[in-house]
Amino acid sequence: MPETILIVEDEPSLQETLAYNLKKQGYIVESAGDGRIALEIGRRLKPDLILLDIMLPGLNGVDVCKTLRREGFNSPIIMLTARDDEIDRVVGLEIGADDYVTKPFSMRELIARVKAQLRRTDSIREELEKLSNRALLENAGQAEPSQDTLKFDDLIVNRTRREVTLNGTALALKPQEYDLLVFFAEHRGQMLSREFVLERVWGWDYIGDSRTVDVHVRWLRQKVEKDPGNPTRIVTVRGGGYRFEG
Ligand code: CA
Repeated sequence: MPETILIVEDEPSLQETLAYNLKKQGYIVESAGDGRIALEIGRRLKPDLILLDIMLPGLNGVDVCKTLRREGFNSPIIMLTARDDEIDRVVGLEIGADDYVTKPFSMRELIARVKAQLRRTDSIREELEKLSNRALLENAGQAEPSQDTLKFDDLIVNRTRREVTLNGTALALKPQEYDLLVFFAEHRGQMLSREFVLERVWGWDYIGDSRTVDVHVRWLRQKVEKDPGNPTRIVTVRGGGYRFEG
């Protein structure tokens, strides 16, 4: 079953180019050039992924994203940002987007990001299936209790359940945030360069820049640090990258 992508972009030539290239990749594509229409199509179609421009007539992309997330829409959303300073808006507002691409972007880069997001969704589905199988086993009393837990004071990562708790409260982490945290946790005390993190967490075939890592670190800090402005868990190593202190 081909995956469905909703393109929300009010610039007709870009909307067409995106639609053409994504159809060529075998996706089913619907397009909208207006925020309100995007919201309607998003609710009705429940696409597997949304490409969402920020500056739109009707309703802006940030509000479209926030509204859909509030309504429980959980497929990946990639924001299309026109300027670098819009990224800060996207990040700062915690609007629930999974990734962003800054215009102008290459079609190759965009498609790589789309594929990366859809692959992630697939692996979550697989994970959930495994979990439900495990639950069946546990109910039957056959499974070993999980030892796959990483503990850093009040921060506990349960890799079997892909669950992170802070002070006993479950954190709502996006897949990349979770993967990043586990990667950090597995390399506690080591200096990790942005490039290394990008390669290992996002994968060889991920075409992004190291700013992607910075953005996700900022998101993660907001969730796991007591004072995100003065992080003590995920510290920045001057001129190098990051180090997870636990
Ligand atoms: Ca626009």
